[in-house]
Amino acid sequence: MIELLTRTQIDEMRPAGQFVGSVLTALADAAEVGVDLLDLDALAHRMIRDRGAESCYIDYHPSFGASPFGKVLCTSVNDAVLHGLPHPYKLRDGDLLSLDFAVSVDGWVCDSAVTVAVGTPREEDVRLIAHAQEALDAAIAIARPGNKVGDISAAIGAVGRSHGLRVNTQFGGHGVGRTMHGDPHIPNDGKAGRGFPLKPGLVIAIEPWFLHTTDGIRMDEDGWTIRSADGSRGAHVEHTIAITEGDPIVMTARD
Ligand code: MG
Repeated sequence: MIELLTRTQIDEMRPAGQFVGSVLTALADAAEVGVDLLDLDALAHRMIRDRGAESCYIDYHPSFGASPFGKVLCTSVNDAVLHGLPHPYKLRDGDLLSLDFAVSVDGWVCDSAVTVAVGTPREEDVRLIAHAQEALDAAIAIARPGNKVGDISAAIGAVGRSHGLRVNTQFGGHGVGRTMHGDPHIPNDGKAGRGFPLKPGLVIAIEPWFLHTTDGIRMDEDGWTIRSADGSRGAHVEHTIAITEGDPIVMTARD
């Protein structure tokens, strides 16, 4: 079921988005060479407790999950791109790290992701992050009444293909509200002009992710972390946005 929020409800949701953005900023700043993924999870956990927020991940146990997630943050390093389960690993110079974070504040969820290069970045990784960001920006730009979910998908896919990337459509964006995952599903490629019409009050997470040389993925032995099929690295960016009569509101915008 697709839920449309009132303007008042969207305003009630803003603190969740601001908090998610502030946590991702703190995590991106903290992600230096030698820092352990578990330290990043612990930092996010402290910030959640201090804010009185509620993690959407720690008890998350979907049908594909081996057990409840048990952490508050997804940390996907190098050939891992989605749902990376934090584990003992100290970040190394040149690592590519995706951070995905969702919490509920006052009963409203926001969900966002950022990818950062640790230490000395590889040029091709900087480009991959920029391509994912370009796709997210293109998708947000057309997220307005009169367009459809398929236009968002098509915009993301077009940016990926314009850079010679293959685009996976298995995991993509989704509705956000009282819970983390709602309708509609928003694949990262598709046909323009198709799907649910975008209406004021629709709140969605848009989350393009690209791999350097494949659109194939495989599940890590941990039962959560999704890696590229060919070992190439991935970048993932995400914002929760609210569609309005005019420009969309980027709920999880960072300073
Ligand atoms: Mg997310």
